[in-house]
Amino acid sequence: MAKLDETLTMLKELTDAKGIPGNEREPREVMKKYIEPLADEVTTDGLGSLIAKKVGKEGGPKVLVAGHLDEVGFMITQIDDKGFLRFQTVGGWWSQVMLAQRVTIVTSKGDVTGVIGSKPPHILPPEARKKPVEIKDMFIDIGASSREEVEEWGVRPGDMVVPYFEFTVMNNEKMLLAKAWDNRIGCAIAIDVLKQLKGEKHDNEVYSVGNVQEEVGLRGAKTSANKINPDIGFAVDVGIAGDTPGITEKEAMSKM
Ligand SMILES: [Zn+2]
Repeated sequence: MAKLDETLTMLKELTDAKGIPGNEREPREVMKKYIEPLADEVTTDGLGSLIAKKVGKEGGPKVLVAGHLDEVGFMITQIDDKGFLRFQTVGGWWSQVMLAQRVTIVTSKGDVTGVIGSKPPHILPPEARKKPVEIKDMFIDIGASSREEVEEWGVRPGDMVVPYFEFTVMNNEKMLLAKAWDNRIGCAIAIDVLKQLKGEKHDNEVYSVGNVQEEVGLRGAKTSANKINPDIGFAVDVGIAGDTPGITEKEAMSKM
């Protein structure tokens, strides 16, 4: 891969970081690394949302710009005797994009690679083959052959799982491929706001925030807003690209 500039390096680190709702340490540390030199003060709320403050004028209107740190992922629920892992989704998933995803399981002993599998179509009855596989019938295969082996590798129920995706600059260099754009791009924009304000005169107290637990009910947005008590807030998040095949303007107006 070609050498990445400063912005692309930040975007790679933000999107590579693994953090499902309630487990946002990795992306929080990346955001902190990039925002700390730009802020007067960096704190967290009680749930773990990152709050970077930059004062233009003390006591001025409080402006909040927030992305969210968490990404949709999975959590291990059970390990079976043959070493296969059962899991549940954390945040909203469409079952059709899950099968054959390579995943990373974050364990106390380090990361373990796996893949999401199911019963193969070859041996399904014709009616079942026409329907998407249900999430409850999927499993994660980490190449283990027994429960003992899985446990030896450090995998436990409760461990978080995220898709693995290589950060890629596409042929059109403005197009980037990675996981977790929802919503590390919002965090990147919150960082960029403070960057743009460097050395600028303004009359506000600006708060750039990376919220936790958005995907499971906007929880960090509530706690961080409660802590900051802003006069105005901008929630930066992703939408639907309306310029992909099959989408009408009525369904989605935005374009890449
Ligand atoms: Zn989002």
